[in-house]
Amino acid sequence: MPSLGPIIERWREITNRIESARKNSPAGAKSAVLVAVAKAHPAESMLPLLSAGHRAFGENKVQEAEAKWPGLRAKFPGIELHLIGSLQSNKAQEALELFDVIETVDRPSLVDALAKERAKASLRCSQFWVQVNIGEEKQKGGVLPLELPSLLAHCKAKGLSITGLMCVPPAEENPAPYFALLHKMGKEHGIHNLSMGMSGDYEVAVRLGATHVRVGTALFGQRD
Ligand SMILES: *Cc1c(COP(=O)(O)O)cnc(C)c1O
Repeated sequence: MPSLGPIIERWREITNRIESARKNSPAGAKSAVLVAVAKAHPAESMLPLLSAGHRAFGENKVQEAEAKWPGLRAKFPGIELHLIGSLQSNKAQEALELFDVIETVDRPSLVDALAKERAKASLRCSQFWVQVNIGEEKQKGGVLPLELPSLLAHCKAKGLSITGLMCVPPAEENPAPYFALLHKMGKEHGIHNLSMGMSGDYEVAVRLGATHVRVGTALFGQRD
């Protein structure tokens, strides 16, 4: 059989691994979507995956997404683009136009900015997820676990429906307890989507109930 190219081969392998992890999951996730993290890779690198029918992608910067995705969207309908990096309130409108899912809602001022821009015009974005700073790390974005209930109440008051939680556990630690904690928070608040797991730990995340995993390096190779 001719080689399909390294990205497609890795995509198949990762997709298979996600599916077996899901089947063996006591958390019983019904599906786990592979969000292909495209940051630092050019639009051309997305073409094999798009041609193979893959549609869920992630970017961490508004500007980079703006340069890359409008052109790809024109050629490939049905793309679902996730913002997985921190969002400045003054870029709320651009983010709402570009992304289908904003995974990184993490503070009241950002909720206010998103709610205000959405009231002005109907923009693309239809899902808002809260990023939880699950390891309570100073350098990381996300709401502290103890502040999640009050942020969710603020979202509700502003009419921003939250349908997912996202986290990035501390880099050098076993991620499993952090994934389990996010799963518990989702249950407590009736929030179904859980974005957790990256190249090094997506199978663990799926076993612990991830509905979305964000994989960059294992799919596209090292970033410069
Ligand atoms: C870059 C990034 C990823 C992907 O990381 P890899 O280790 O390359 O798979 C996932 N989530 C977030 C928030 C990221 O910034």
